[in-house]
Amino acid sequence: MSNSQIGNSELISQVNSRLILQAVRIMQPTYRAAVARKTGLKPATVTVIVNDLLSKHMLIEAPGPASGDRWGRPPLMLQVNGDVKHILAIDLEPDCIRVALTNILVENLLYREKRIDRFAKPAAILPRILELCDQVLEGVSRRTLLGVGVSLPGLIDRERGVLISSTNMPEWSDIPIGQILHKKLRVPVQVERSMHCALVYEDWSNPRPPNHTSLIVSLRTGVGMSFIHAGQRYIGNQGFDGEIGHTVIDVNGKPCECGSRGCLETFISASAIVARARDLIAEGKGTGLKKCVDAGEELVPELIYRLASEGDVECVEIVRDVGKYLGIAIANMINLLAPDEVVISGSIDIAGELILQAVTSQVQQHALPRTREKTTIRLAQQTDKLPLLGAAAMVAQRIFTLPKLSHNISKPSSAPRRKRPSRARV
Ligand SMILES: [Zn+2]
Repeated sequence: MSNSQIGNSELISQVNSRLILQAVRIMQPTYRAAVARKTGLKPATVTVIVNDLLSKHMLIEAPGPASGDRWGRPPLMLQVNGDVKHILAIDLEPDCIRVALTNILVENLLYREKRIDRFAKPAAILPRILELCDQVLEGVSRRTLLGVGVSLPGLIDRERGVLISSTNMPEWSDIPIGQILHKKLRVPVQVERSMHCALVYEDWSNPRPPNHTSLIVSLRTGVGMSFIHAGQRYIGNQGFDGEIGHTVIDVNGKPCECGSRGCLETFISASAIVARARDLIAEGKGTGLKKCVDAGEELVPELIYRLASEGDVECVEIVRDVGKYLGIAIANMINLLAPDEVVISGSIDIAGELILQAVTSQVQQHALPRTREKTTIRLAQQTDKLPLLGAAAMVAQRIFTLPKLSHNISKPSSAPRRKRPSRARV
């Protein structure tokens, strides 16, 4: 057997293993016959590969539910052995660091967070990130660590793992965060923009039908957007896309941190929401807010959201306005992209429904009727942890998604070209 034949058979085996792992992950617990139907592989091939994955502890088998009309032991069902490896996920939001240890199914095992000052220098923040990593990794063998996924705000260099710049973190410039983490942990580190991480997790947890288009909008320290069409994430020039927060709502509006005026973020970013609450208190209004602040609570959007959910009229008005401006931006995006669904995420859990109502109302008013009738708008399930879990899913994908084919492998010189070489079968 030639080297290229050995290479191809190894590649086919690797592709089929990942097809099977992914099928089991999506359907689990499931039977071997269902895996064969889902993947299109022959049952004999499924048996060989499943046995190999069982021997490597990537899959586990357990008896399925007993059937009333059948004698003997119930047939065995397959599951992915999620705990075979660990993943460290980090989400650097300008106002908050979130760190999680997950298994390869991106099930959250340990979680820590710490609020930070987004105007602080990296030298003050980086040690906090490493401390949180140490806390979740305590007692975890490095040999079981598959990798580290990092969600970052701003412009990044994926190849070098560098945060180049961030509008919301002005002191951060060319910070080699990937290199810093690799030096400490000695495992592969992948970095991605937070909005793309959010999209990775949405796609991981809700596999979509073919040709489906989803738009994710996130309201955290800033406002971001990303979208996926037919299973492909849109990645713009330099990967710096989705800056919906810097679309202009009022050309004569307040100055924005990006240098422009009247951007969406000047209305609904975390700092804009807090500034409005401060103004209320200064005007002698916002009595509910003032009471909490006087009692020592931090004036953050989450406090305003909580009071709104408890019926505080002034906070309800702030939240409705957040939904209003977000809704106008989303209506514009619906007119532009005609997505099947819009998913709203971010640090909005407790006020999610109120924001969703206001957004829906604006979309009704401003999106074109034929487009909006086909678009579903909903809240994400893991609103504030979407980028964090997406950072973990990005690492987990190394186990479950198909390897990228190189130019040489996809076009073997000696073999006749197949019309549809999209899936490996044996
Ligand atoms: Zn701006």
